[in-house]
Amino acid sequence: MKKNNGNNEIVRLTQKHTAHTYGRFPIALVRGKGTRVWDRDGKEYIDFVSGLAVNNLGHCHPAVVTAIQKQAGQLLHVSNLYHIEPQARLAEELTRLSFADKVFFCNSGTEANEAAIKLARRFSFDQGYKNRNEIVTMHNSFHGRTFGGLSATAQKKFHTGFAPLLSGFKYVPFNDMGAVKKAFSKKTCAVMLEPGQGEGGVYFPDKNYLKELRKFCTKNKLLLIFDEVQTGFGRTGSLFSYQRYGIKPDVMTLAKALGGGTAIGAMAASNPAIRSFVPGTHAATFGGNPLACAAALAALKVLTGKNFLTKVQKTGDYFKSRLDKLAEKFPAIREVRGEGLMLALELDRPAGDVLVHCMQNGYLVNCVQTNTLRFIPPLTVSKKEIDGLIQTVSHSLDQMSRAKV
Ligand SMILES: *Cc1c(COP(=O)(O)O)cnc(C)c1O
Repeated sequence: MKKNNGNNEIVRLTQKHTAHTYGRFPIALVRGKGTRVWDRDGKEYIDFVSGLAVNNLGHCHPAVVTAIQKQAGQLLHVSNLYHIEPQARLAEELTRLSFADKVFFCNSGTEANEAAIKLARRFSFDQGYKNRNEIVTMHNSFHGRTFGGLSATAQKKFHTGFAPLLSGFKYVPFNDMGAVKKAFSKKTCAVMLEPGQGEGGVYFPDKNYLKELRKFCTKNKLLLIFDEVQTGFGRTGSLFSYQRYGIKPDVMTLAKALGGGTAIGAMAASNPAIRSFVPGTHAATFGGNPLACAAALAALKVLTGKNFLTKVQKTGDYFKSRLDKLAEKFPAIREVRGEGLMLALELDRPAGDVLVHCMQNGYLVNCVQTNTLRFIPPLTVSKKEIDGLIQTVSHSLDQMSRAKV
């Protein structure tokens, strides 16, 4: 094997000069095209991580690159003191393609959730409920790392050492309508959840649960907030995950794949809630900037192209059937989970060894929770690439079961 000096230089620099907030793998990726990325030594990988569900169209999609190049030569940033053409057009598209009436733009997922939390409180306040400010969120959720998002995130491991968190959140088990009803009080203003938990281990809600939740929120005048930061933009086989459940939320937060690889977030909401965001209530300097919006518009056009999402569903079904077959063969596999191209394999032991084996053999995957491998490839991934990954995982599990005997 070639000695990897190219990667090592960057690994050293990173360790010396950047905060150690990330458990990084010892490679530096320098180029990407479609489903492939290359490290600084020229080693090629097939990407089943997609920059954490960002590169849904693959790396450097030509339509996105062209849009960025064009916009970069025209206007990068002004301010929301003025009207911004790509922002207006992107908002038009997002509302046309979803339940939402209006969109607020920001720069990340956690910021989109901050906007949703603020809107929920402000809307309740505007309705005349002066003390209604609690939001019910779900165990194992993930809503980001700023204090609002972090406080909404019901996973202890992210909270350690950061007390006091923002007050006004009540945590209940996911997929449990009884628990929501029990947590509900005169202080509740909203229920917030992911219609497909990603970081929590890839768990999807039941159809009946979401239907009941929708009814309950409507009846009690609560906002139903869906965090679609990870599930959005074709990841689960429909443009947004909520569309597969036959219901609509009042608020939806977006980021990750929205910008085709650029940093952008959004909170989309319907009337009357969004009317509570009047001048002065919320803002973001870079929110809806021309560059990110131009990239997002180009990405959205590809995603909504003819047959694109139908193909994602087919690829997802194929991938899942291959994982199911694997589970029949290896008792170490506890469960196969997921929808579309947001899939997971839970093992009866830590999945780190399988991950490293995959990386050494040219496949990038990642772990959510210790025992679970998550697969979130570009939506353009081919059957052949899926077969290659399955073979590599299979080989690793084979080695593992042999080592045990
Ligand atoms: C990634 C993620 C976030 C946070 O997004 P950032 O852009 O990292 O702030 C929030 N919610 C969900 C569901 C996510 O997957």
